[in-house]
Amino acid sequence: MFHVKHYDVIVIGGGHAGAEAAAASSRLGAKTGLITLRLEGVGVMSCNPAIGGLGKGHLVREIDALDGIMGRAADEAGIQFRLLNRRKGPAVQGPRAQADRVLYRQAVRKLLAEEKNLSIIEGEVTDLIVIRGRIEGVTLSDGSEISCKSVVLTAGTFLNGIIHVGKEKQAGGRMGDAPSNRLGSRLRDLGFLGGRLKTGTPPRLDGRTIDWDAVGTQAGDEEPVLFSFMNTGVKVRQIACGITHTNEQTHEIVRRNLDKSAMYGGQIEGVGPRYCPSIEDKVVRFADKDSHQVFLEPEGLSDHTVYPNGISSSLPESVQEEYVRSIKGLERARIIQPAYAIEYDYFDPRGLLGTLENKNMPSLFLAGQINGTTGYEEAAAQGLAAGFNAAMSALDAGAVQFSRSESYIGVMIDDLISHGVTEPYRMFTSRAEYRLHLRADNADQRLTPRGISIGCVSVSRQIAFGIKMDMLERGRESVRSLRFSQRDLEAHGVHVSNDGQRRSGLDVMGALNLDEAQILELMPVLKDIDEGIWKQIARDALYSRYLDRQEVQIAQLRREEATCIHGEFDYGGMSGLSSELKGKLMRYRPATLAQASKIEGMTPSALALLLSAIRKQDRARIA
Ligand code: FAD
Repeated sequence: MFHVKHYDVIVIGGGHAGAEAAAASSRLGAKTGLITLRLEGVGVMSCNPAIGGLGKGHLVREIDALDGIMGRAADEAGIQFRLLNRRKGPAVQGPRAQADRVLYRQAVRKLLAEEKNLSIIEGEVTDLIVIRGRIEGVTLSDGSEISCKSVVLTAGTFLNGIIHVGKEKQAGGRMGDAPSNRLGSRLRDLGFLGGRLKTGTPPRLDGRTIDWDAVGTQAGDEEPVLFSFMNTGVKVRQIACGITHTNEQTHEIVRRNLDKSAMYGGQIEGVGPRYCPSIEDKVVRFADKDSHQVFLEPEGLSDHTVYPNGISSSLPESVQEEYVRSIKGLERARIIQPAYAIEYDYFDPRGLLGTLENKNMPSLFLAGQINGTTGYEEAAAQGLAAGFNAAMSALDAGAVQFSRSESYIGVMIDDLISHGVTEPYRMFTSRAEYRLHLRADNADQRLTPRGISIGCVSVSRQIAFGIKMDMLERGRESVRSLRFSQRDLEAHGVHVSNDGQRRSGLDVMGALNLDEAQILELMPVLKDIDEGIWKQIARDALYSRYLDRQEVQIAQLRREEATCIHGEFDYGGMSGLSSELKGKLMRYRPATLAQASKIEGMTPSALALLLSAIRKQDRARIA
């Protein structure tokens, strides 16, 4: 006879979604049990040893602003930090870090261990206990039952997972892990699962067999930008990674063996992530390119394993060896673990509410790859939202929803539940209509106050945030009170129209495209303000004037939703639209702008382009 344990919230799965969900639920005071197949698997990075990037880095900053764990863990484990798009504006800059796999996992485990309402249980959930249409608990493979008020399901790629290496296939949740078939079958019986998706990973190489002198190197940033608003400096030794390229010979080997690839040999029915193409995809889809970049990313400080970013595959191992060895610097490289593709069941996210609760089964929340997304960050961000809501539901408190105008978390959840997915969903800054506001640098200003009201922000972060906001406000006041005449500005080589206006310091920061050195020269008072604070004031000022314009554009799009698109509209002739979107528009032929806006992958900027092209073509037809 088994003793029935009870939790407010049970989280199934200890991947990126599960870890964040469990921590979030615990922070809200719910007694939380995290059940996962292997304790060692908590926080494992199944694929690339890196966190963040464009759009993804924004999500990590938002998670951190709500006191989540991903940003802090990535900072602990970061062995190379790079701010992507550094030369472009802050709205599209994305923090990214290569992480030491072992240190990352340890950091996640440590942060979870600090959660006082959380217990971690090793076990396989095989069934959900459903009574009168509500989840009341879960059953484990040993027959034991654990009761709860709500469940967050985050089983990742494990549900009915099949691993493919060439023609060989085996059941698995990821290499080295058994799949979760019993739960997968049960969820299929309950009518929960939407279809099959797939993803792939490159071979892992033994770094000692790489000729590092023959490849290029890429170092991290001199001034690393961390993820967590609570951290200022890197924690461990920083390293460079290598860069090499595929060549004609590599492509010829791949082309010659395409029929042996699981993806091209017709063995995989699931759809894969177009934005992480395999080497087979690259050779077929970008046939005109004779070379592709391959980043050689060390997986850790005390690990010889190297992740060759850019050559994922589902070709047989012997072919992988041949194409790897055709690449400069990898002529003697030894493969430690072959590349593989994995196919798995996912849930159609249109069956979820904005809280990530299942529409047909109250108190069941779903988050992560199981909802059709790809990537650690997308998974973690959903985990955070689902964890909050599962806890709120268990504690009979109000729901927590994120809007598109306040966060990328809101953009992603809204995209998922409104459009569903036809391929693994990943975040891009272009998915957000408010992207000038939704910046990585201001995630704390946008979300920490919200987090404080939800009750998920620690006292130490509340204090740090309060001090920062106070410094920002005082700094802003002193900059606002500065006054510059045309002559003052001209004296520093800054040309403005002779309109007789005296501009405030904030106007000067926001409107004149000055670089940081020019700003400092004009406003020596800034030397008395913390550097991070005045730079933040400058970034906020820069964007404030664009935000008004953005509001106008969005309002216009809303007004124009009924605009008709005639049947023969020439999408092919439009410039500025990706060929992927053109293809979808040509296939679906939406009758109105509103219908076009519902197409998966349609972005606000693409809609604005479409609207102006419709107007132009209509004018041409009339004339
Ligand atoms: P996972 O990290 O998969 O975690 C699932 C967890 O659920 C595991 O801890 C597992 O033990 C647990 N679990 C499953 N079933 C049960 C059960 N019945 N009972 C208890 N516990 C259970 N992302 C990218 O962005 N780019 C890529 O190129 C990329 N390639 C990938 C390649 C491969 C081969 C794989 C496997 C993943 C790849 N990913 C990639 C995806 C990335 O790893 C995932 O998006 C991310 O890990 C998803 O997080 P998750 O928490 O949803 O699921």
